[in-house]
Amino acid sequence: METANIVIIGAGIVGLALAAKLSEGNEAVYVFEKNQRFGQETSSHNSGVIHSGIHYPKNSLKAKLCVKGNIMLYEMCEKYKIPYKKLGKLTVAIEEEEIEELNKLMKMGEDNGVEDLKFLDREEVKRLEPNVEVEKALYSPSTGIVEPDELMNHFYAKIRNNRAMVATETEVTSMRKTDFGYELNGTSVGEKFTVTAKTVINCAGLYSDRIAAMIGLDIDKLGYRLHYCKGDYFRIGGKPPVKMLIYPVPKGPGLGIHLTPDLSGAIRLGPNAYYVNNIDYNVESNEKEFSEDIKRFLPSIVKHNIQIDSAGIRPKLQGPEDSFRDFVIKHEADKDLFGFINLIGIESPGLTAAPAIGDFVSEIYENEIKR
Ligand SMILES: Cc1cc2nc3c(=O)[nH]c(=O)nc-3n(C[C@H](O)[C@H](O)[C@H](O)COP(=O)(O)OP(=O)(O)OC[C@H]3O[C@@H](n4cnc5c(N)ncnc54)[C@H](O)[C@@H]3O)c2cc1C
Repeated sequence: METANIVIIGAGIVGLALAAKLSEGNEAVYVFEKNQRFGQETSSHNSGVIHSGIHYPKNSLKAKLCVKGNIMLYEMCEKYKIPYKKLGKLTVAIEEEEIEELNKLMKMGEDNGVEDLKFLDREEVKRLEPNVEVEKALYSPSTGIVEPDELMNHFYAKIRNNRAMVATETEVTSMRKTDFGYELNGTSVGEKFTVTAKTVINCAGLYSDRIAAMIGLDIDKLGYRLHYCKGDYFRIGGKPPVKMLIYPVPKGPGLGIHLTPDLSGAIRLGPNAYYVNNIDYNVESNEKEFSEDIKRFLPSIVKHNIQIDSAGIRPKLQGPEDSFRDFVIKHEADKDLFGFINLIGIESPGLTAAPAIGDFVSEIYENEIKR
């Protein structure tokens, strides 16, 4: 039986960022990933936006880790030549009544330490984005875009450099606590395996509630059960009508169908947000719903050809009837699971926050677990 020091379950951007950090000062760090390659689930089905931190309540983990992650990501991209663009974002009030929502976002951003926000009137918006028709906008200069695959390649290279290991096609199917730590069982490249580890970190994304249940936690009692909230994307053809990220004021469980340029300047529409029961990445929405929504602030959308792009699924703790839920990042020592750390509900801004989550969990490990 193999012995590991730390096993991280899940090689999405969060598991990879964490492994890159933990393997700097610790031996025998393993990441187990059930798919053939790392980053094939939520981490490669998202908007690739580096958020500034205006959408989350003060002192929440989402707020703190987003604001810190934003700074860390730009520094990392500069230092390691990872392609990114700090395009800036406009959140737009199309009607007078929506201006109050912009005020709330401004307040939340300021509470969270986002210092560069600015209101723009109709004319100022027109100067930046001539095709956009709105009453007022909240301008966030520190919002940008990055290619998630490039970020994950960077973390992967760091992990390899630190002599830690990402084992792909390796699925954890059962676990139990032992006197030593944890015994994990599963299949790796078609063969059964058993590994023991002193510390286990659950970074399994959409499957993280199942991993928590696997170690015996009552996920309903603890509020750890996930709800899948899907978001579809479309792509528009022709000359890009905008240069910046353009968002409506948020409504419902998502941020509203928005316009996101990619690094080539091509524009994606979406994602929308609807709850589903299964993990299925096929686009289910109709482009009409998207163009109707976007037409409210970008009338020229009707001239563009709209094509199906892709879909992603948010691992949400917040169910359809619930209000805000924060990330769960918790060492479960008080539940007789010393050395077991859960990361559950790591939806947006998880990509932005990933390097800050890496630091946060590494501090928990160093202060509470490492002996
Ligand atoms: C539509 C959408 C748009 C988004 N846009 C943004 C954005 O613009 N900016 C932003 O900051 N965030 C965004 N996010 C959020 C961001 O994508 C996620 O927070 C982030 O990717 C989560 O990464 P993760 O590593 O936790 O999860 P994942 O990427 O899902 O990784 C978890 C991994 O665990 C593996 N796994 C699961 N079970 C097992 C097992 N039993 N054994 C082994 N491996 C296992 C899975 O195969 C998977 O690879 C968006 C999310 C969605 C859905």
